[in-house]
Amino acid sequence: MATEVECPATETILGSEDLHCFVCDVAVTGKFYPLATCRARTTKTRLIEKLGHLVGERYMVVISEDDIICRGCANLMNTLDRLELEMRSVKNVVLRFLEKKYSLEEGELLNHKDTECGQPPQITPGELKLASLMMQSKASPWWIG
Ligand SMILES: [Zn+2]
Repeated sequence: MATEVECPATETILGSEDLHCFVCDVAVTGKFYPLATCRARTTKTRLIEKLGHLVGERYMVVISEDDIICRGCANLMNTLDRLELEMRSVKNVVLRFLEKKYSLEEGELLNHKDTECGQPPQITPGELKLASLMMQSKASPWWIG
């Protein structure tokens, strides 16, 4: 199926420990994917990196090696990935036109458009997982002030 992510899916086994999706927190019953290694289909970007970009600079996504993402959320991330790529290529076409029209250097506009920013993902080893760290605010940590 076109919307599947590039990652071997795992099926939950009945009777195994409760697995919750890192994103929507639903108790996963069907297929799921390991979040640390899963990649979006279109750009092959790791889903965790995409999540990092998505939440922005104020937060850092912290996952552990055994965190998982459900099929529904993985597909959402995949859709986002595809649309972002599409948006980038549309932007590029428009900027190329403008570069030509105004006789700018090739790449003058293209290379100065929004750079990919955001925090690199952090993956903690599975055994260090303490109470499933979700997101840590870097701006105003709760333990300060
Ligand atoms: Zn989910």
